[in-house]
Amino acid sequence: MDEKITVPLLDLKAQYATIKTEILDAVHTVFENQSFILGKTVADCEALLAPYCGCQYAVGVTSGSDALLIALMAEKIGPGDEVITTPYTFFATAGSIARTGAKPVFVDICPKTYNLDPKLIDRAITKNTKAILPVHLYGQCAEMNPILEIAKAKNLSIIEDAAQAIGSEYQGKRAGSMGRYGCFSFFPSKNLGAAGDGGLVTVQDAELADRLKVLRAHGSKPKYYHSLIGGNFRLDALQAAVVSVKFRHLDQWSAGRQANAARYRRLFEQAGLVQNGTVTLPEEVPGGRHIYNQFVIRGPRRDALQKHLKENNIGTEVYYPVPLHLQKCFAYLGHREGDFPESEKAAQETLALPIYPELNDRQAEYVVDSIRRFIDSTK
Ligand SMILES: *Cc1c(COP(=O)(O)O)cnc(C)c1O
Repeated sequence: MDEKITVPLLDLKAQYATIKTEILDAVHTVFENQSFILGKTVADCEALLAPYCGCQYAVGVTSGSDALLIALMAEKIGPGDEVITTPYTFFATAGSIARTGAKPVFVDICPKTYNLDPKLIDRAITKNTKAILPVHLYGQCAEMNPILEIAKAKNLSIIEDAAQAIGSEYQGKRAGSMGRYGCFSFFPSKNLGAAGDGGLVTVQDAELADRLKVLRAHGSKPKYYHSLIGGNFRLDALQAAVVSVKFRHLDQWSAGRQANAARYRRLFEQAGLVQNGTVTLPEEVPGGRHIYNQFVIRGPRRDALQKHLKENNIGTEVYYPVPLHLQKCFAYLGHREGDFPESEKAAQETLALPIYPELNDRQAEYVVDSIRRFIDSTK
């Protein structure tokens, strides 16, 4: 096989080449208007994204992390409160809970989907529990029906971390439309990425949308009169302009990722790596729409495999090497190794492969062949 093939984990330059004029036109318009803070560009972007996410309202914010924070603030969650979430996620999920002064309460994941295991939620609920914060990890929705039932029975609100899941579906419902809040990120590596940081909160309720808009501008309404303590959580007009352009291509890109996932499945089977359980491929829950923000496999000797792939010019990533309950900054929660075994095992075994839409046949074949060669060499 040609040793010159290079496969980055993500190829944003390839994407940009296909949309360059559209992006530059949109950015140019913002500069001509010199309206950089909120305004029509942000409102237009929100109006595009709310219905796409199956929601009545969308509020553009500074980042996915701040989307989570502002949703928790809108729920008035703070010191003394507890929020249930997964330890197997990006740091911001639990970090935003802690930033409000509330306590993140972890519940282990289902090993097949890497999402919150609803069966474990009940026993984590106390009189201080205020909300459940499920994450739709890698682009596939958490098992929402049982989570919604628990929330209803216990009068808890649900904040969906849909940062990796824009356009993803669970039984016909869009990510971000099932809980009280949907939180999205426009970090460049997400399926809909800005040219920098950005985020979005979606809601179904006009009053909540209004509260979020007040909170994102220092709790000011009318101007210079503050009934709430908010912050500066405004989405930039430049970022909104870029997101609105890229949004036109989002479904096509997500379909490209799905096609790449299907091709990987064929190639791994042809290589004989799936049948005997050597490599575990991501499981698609029936009735859903997985948008493959990441294509995450489990394989033997993960770290050595990653090193081998790197030597063969293939970019991969470990999402996430240390589950949140074992992070130094959360030592005060008193957790130890073994507390959430499925999350710990996933942290040791999983590896994300390149899945970006522009990935071609030759590259995908090279990735699977390189993995096969590694496995053969360890036999
Ligand atoms: C990316 C991400 C975030 C944070 O989004 P930023 O825009 O980077 O702040 C939060 N949660 C999850 C699961 C993410 O993947």
